[in-house]
Amino acid sequence: MRVVDLIKKTDSTAFSFEVLPPIKGTGIEKLYDTIETLLEFDPKYINITTHRSEYVYKDLGNGLFERNRLRRRPGTVAVAAALSNKYRITTVPHILCSGFSREDIEYELLDLQFLGITDLLVLRGDKAKHESTFTPEPNGPSHAIELEEQINNFNNGVFVDGSPIKITRTPFSYGIACYPEKHEESPNLDQDIYWLKKKVEAGAEYAVTQLFYDNKKFFKFVEKVREAGIDTPIIPGIKPFRKLSQLTVVPKTFKVDIPQELALEALKCQTDEEASQLGVEWCINQCKELINYGVPSIHFYSVGAVDSIKQVAKVIY
Ligand code: FAD
Repeated sequence: MRVVDLIKKTDSTAFSFEVLPPIKGTGIEKLYDTIETLLEFDPKYINITTHRSEYVYKDLGNGLFERNRLRRRPGTVAVAAALSNKYRITTVPHILCSGFSREDIEYELLDLQFLGITDLLVLRGDKAKHESTFTPEPNGPSHAIELEEQINNFNNGVFVDGSPIKITRTPFSYGIACYPEKHEESPNLDQDIYWLKKKVEAGAEYAVTQLFYDNKKFFKFVEKVREAGIDTPIIPGIKPFRKLSQLTVVPKTFKVDIPQELALEALKCQTDEEASQLGVEWCINQCKELINYGVPSIHFYSVGAVDSIKQVAKVIY
């Protein structure tokens, strides 16, 4: 069942979460542990992130370095298939422009179609670590909207080279990303919402937000989005605050503010355990307020925060 139908079908606020594929060379068991920790809260779907390859330099020991391409976390499609088979749950692999050509994407769509996985989250993806600005692959899409266009063509039975797809199956349906505190590259929030609207008009059925800690910013964003004529579900993406170091890491990495009230409380914490407990309490209040506001679903970013999410979910679900 499509994600929009899953969230519309439930009377109460739906629960879902995002996982990362395991680091290359490690097993999938730890991932299964994560899923099993959160399964009791009846997740409606599970997202699996995608990570582009990066260039790494291998020290050859003779003063020279060899430049190699490495994907630290491959396996999104396989993880999506493994989880949907094992737990009979809708999985939502993320599909990126970053690091992929249109041909790579087409082969990924074929794999997913053969596996019967038809829900996607369509994203541009982050720039590579060695890049100062995002650069698409040769013959790769530059923005999420171009990726949506490729998926729409696939759904309409047309391959990238214009040749027909002979057998049509369940079409892909998809969501996109949005940013209550605006995307870092956008000149302002209105311009970011302009592109959000274009992405919705192109076929996105819902949007999931970047993580945020300040509900006021989310409510204001939703108001602006509705004023702009966008009426698709906006799903808040939430991650409990976990560690003292996140006071600086979160704004730097995700380009979002930590509200002053949370920052002041965090500064009083002596240990990461205390910070984690504060994060759980903050998150419970945040979720309660979001539920009262009427959000259709809350999507949790689980990496490094599974135990906190369990504590939060116990209270709110
Ligand atoms: P876009 O929609 O392409 O937007 C990027 C910027 O360009 C924005 O500033 C927008 O305003 C502007 N813009 C959009 N369209 C156009 C256009 N046609 N012309 C000019 N400007 C335009 N990253 C990963 O690498 N892997 C993941 O698995 C992953 N999962 C994510 C999940 C969620 C819920 C979120 C919120 C983010 C995720 N990201 C992931 C990060 C995301 O890829 C980055 O934030 C990326 O920089 C932007 O992606 P986007 O899809 O929003 O891009």
